[in-house]
Amino acid sequence: MDRPMLAVEDPATGQPITSVPDAGPDDVDKAVRAAAGAWAAWHVSDRHAALMSCAVVVEEAAPVLAPVLTEEQGKPLREAEAEFAGAAARLRYYAGLRPGPRVDGGGPVAVITPWNFPVQLAVAKLAPAFAAGNTVVLKPSPRTPLTTLHLGRMLAQVLPPGVLTVLTGQDPLGEWLVAHPGIRKVDFTGSADTGKRVAAASVSEWRELTLQLGGNDPAIVLPCTDPAAIAERLFWSAFANCGQIGVAVERVYAVGSVYDGVVEALAAMAAEVVVGDGRTPGTQIGPVNNRPRYDRVTGLTDEARADGARVVTGGPLGGPGYFFAPAILAEAHDGMRVVTEEQFGPVLPVVRCSTVDEAVGLANATAFGLCGSVWGTDEEYAAEVATRLECGTVRVNEHLAMSADEPFAGSRWSASRPGLRE
Ligand code: NAD
Repeated sequence: MDRPMLAVEDPATGQPITSVPDAGPDDVDKAVRAAAGAWAAWHVSDRHAALMSCAVVVEEAAPVLAPVLTEEQGKPLREAEAEFAGAAARLRYYAGLRPGPRVDGGGPVAVITPWNFPVQLAVAKLAPAFAAGNTVVLKPSPRTPLTTLHLGRMLAQVLPPGVLTVLTGQDPLGEWLVAHPGIRKVDFTGSADTGKRVAAASVSEWRELTLQLGGNDPAIVLPCTDPAAIAERLFWSAFANCGQIGVAVERVYAVGSVYDGVVEALAAMAAEVVVGDGRTPGTQIGPVNNRPRYDRVTGLTDEARADGARVVTGGPLGGPGYFFAPAILAEAHDGMRVVTEEQFGPVLPVVRCSTVDEAVGLANATAFGLCGSVWGTDEEYAAEVATRLECGTVRVNEHLAMSADEPFAGSRWSASRPGLRE
């Protein structure tokens, strides 16, 4: 019988580029059994060397696989290359920790990833899992399975058999994996809605659980701010990777007379950036990754416009492909879904506030709690305001800076661990 296959699409054309196996419950069972068998023989001395070998594999794979990542995800080639470099650095970081004795209760870990950073997010989960002596069955998003599949095959060559298996397939594959009795831990990154389902399934089977979920990160711009000084950093904090970053700035609260200047400076940046095919040199923002996300961002923008927002610049560019020029929405308010929900795409609402207290109140009026930032010339005052934001990480005059040696955790819907050890 022919194996079921899953089509992979190029978001720059909307056309299929190839297909990958659409794994079923039998594939899950085989992979988890292999991972359980491999766990028993996975020694500490091997693990340090394995992490170093994996780093080399990721570095050597980059010239071949970064273009594949661009083809299936849409991001500019330069950013795809940076994703590989970041992944290799993370493997080296964990190798440098000199893996110690195995964690009690370890075993096969189900790693489930979304489509925005398929390589970086997978490696950020593999590396600590391997360092702690676990083995992994990795399921990438059905929207970006290709690079992970190729990379998994390359990594498997420097790992003992069964230590890493990549299974590609649709959403139910994630459910089958989480439900398999041989899985000891689930490490999931994705939306809050899926996270709730994963948590419920994990709790019912007493699995260890780590969740990195969605966000709706606020940025507060204080009255004492020079818009020109922050515009570029604030813009890329919202629009890097076409706005498809869990920890991107998703809503700006500008306080007092600084409002118009912030809108103008962001709109000027937005009008200048080069949107196009990620393979074309000079492209700064590629297409939105998929049709449902493109339709959602378009819908939220239209809805906000109908409710009184001013689309200063940007919007859908039309097909083929899911190109959307970065949009700045002025006079947005907290009655709009583009403000209250996670848009996860290239549109940024800017809300006018009269006082800092009002901005802090609105920034905290959300069920999400991933990251936040406060922007201002007076850094001491900005740091004081930052302590009032309720989220996992708060920064001053920057938003996206992250490193392997820094704790990363959200609160509330952005990451919850329902009573289980991480
Ligand atoms: P998603 O929740 O739809 O899917 C994520 C993964 O879960 C995919 O591999 C999917 O196939 C799988 N899946 C779907 N249903 C499942 C189920 N019932 N059981 C197990 N697995 C299942 O998310 P997405 O659209 O791929 O990614 C976007 C989301 O990811 C956004 O909400 C974004 O904020 C979030 N994200 C968060 C971070 C972070 O650091 N917190 C980083 C990146 C992305």
